[in-house]
Amino acid sequence: MAFAPHSPSASVRRRLLQVVERLGPDLVKFTRELVRAKSITGEEGVAQGLARDKLKALGGKVDFWSPRPRDFRGYEPFISQERNVGARPNVVARFRGRDSKKVLAFNGHMDVVPEGDPALWKHPPYGGEVAEGKLFGRGACDMKAGLAATIFAVESLLDADIPIENDLLVESVIGEESGGMGTLATILRGYVPDATVIAEPTNFELTIAQAGCLMFRLGVRGKAAHGASRYMGVSAVEKFQPVLNALLRLEKRRATMKSNPLFAGVPNPVTLSIGTVHAGNWDSTVPESLVAEGRYGVWPGETLDQARSMFEQAVAKASAEDDWLSENPPSISWFGPQWESAELSPSHWLTRLMKDSVVASLGFVPKLSGIPGGTDMRLFTGVAKKPAIIFGPGDDATAHFSNERIDTKDIIRACKVYSMAALAWNE
Ligand SMILES: [Zn+2]
Repeated sequence: MAFAPHSPSASVRRRLLQVVERLGPDLVKFTRELVRAKSITGEEGVAQGLARDKLKALGGKVDFWSPRPRDFRGYEPFISQERNVGARPNVVARFRGRDSKKVLAFNGHMDVVPEGDPALWKHPPYGGEVAEGKLFGRGACDMKAGLAATIFAVESLLDADIPIENDLLVESVIGEESGGMGTLATILRGYVPDATVIAEPTNFELTIAQAGCLMFRLGVRGKAAHGASRYMGVSAVEKFQPVLNALLRLEKRRATMKSNPLFAGVPNPVTLSIGTVHAGNWDSTVPESLVAEGRYGVWPGETLDQARSMFEQAVAKASAEDDWLSENPPSISWFGPQWESAELSPSHWLTRLMKDSVVASLGFVPKLSGIPGGTDMRLFTGVAKKPAIIFGPGDDATAHFSNERIDTKDIIRACKVYSMAALAWNE
């Protein structure tokens, strides 16, 4: 699809930015309400109700539904880890254009990760408190601020009496932190926008590449024996050691096997990290088995199969060099959701649209970047086969930690950018 660079008159832009400024306090207030509505992955219902009510009040055609397991046929890994696929509503609001030819979506996830030890928080994690210009709380940065800002961008357009020409969608989704079932459910339900802006915190950078990742489970077998005669057994822990060493070497090799300027400053965009190790069943018994689970990064431009095969070869090579392991090769399984990598060209029209929107509203040219962690971007590019870009307020470094926070001014600044993007979409 061709994109004509937008040319709304300077006076329309100015009017729209003034409306965003005027609605700013309401936007901050709404973000605080979202933070107060605790919505750890699996328990998004109350917060999603707030999004639904707000979007309805703006006149959007709101689809509010709880995806069911059968909706994910062919995509079972996405829900295999979900504790709860019951009453967890997704929200999609459509603002229909007068003579719509295309659809732009703003996407954000409502779920948050647990707050951890409350004693480490200066302000209660679900208090929605503002201090020294910053809103504190779990989800403030990742990513209720961005989500609220997209909703208010649509409100600003309506408030400024600017008719919507092409459809706008606001998607408030569940389950991003556990793999992306919410966004996947919107796509499988038929929402396939021509372009999507994901409002994750990027510190006002335009993120156009996302590394992928896979979850692996390694099983290493040993041979049980009494600890007092451990020479009669084979320790699965000791047999894990050469496998672990091989994986650490693999991680090093993969870190430099490609280079991508979008990841400049990231020490390694494709880490391999062992998250859990469980072995043995009794302190004075030689462990007969070990299970290790971890995550394994995938380069943009690399397929999941290519990445898997490098991993499997590394394990096979380490096993071939060991008498026991060559007779008893470790098992490898891939589980949970799969995060494909995703990329958008720096010269793509969506990149230009967002760049222009930042320049028009904030007055600077945004940096282009990539992120090593998985996001819903790859569902738009990989499943829907449509372009997506990530842009939002807040520093990801405070996300998932105690004292997560966001500068309230940045919420309003993000809203300005989204409103400019929505305006450009009219053309
Ligand atoms: Zn997020």
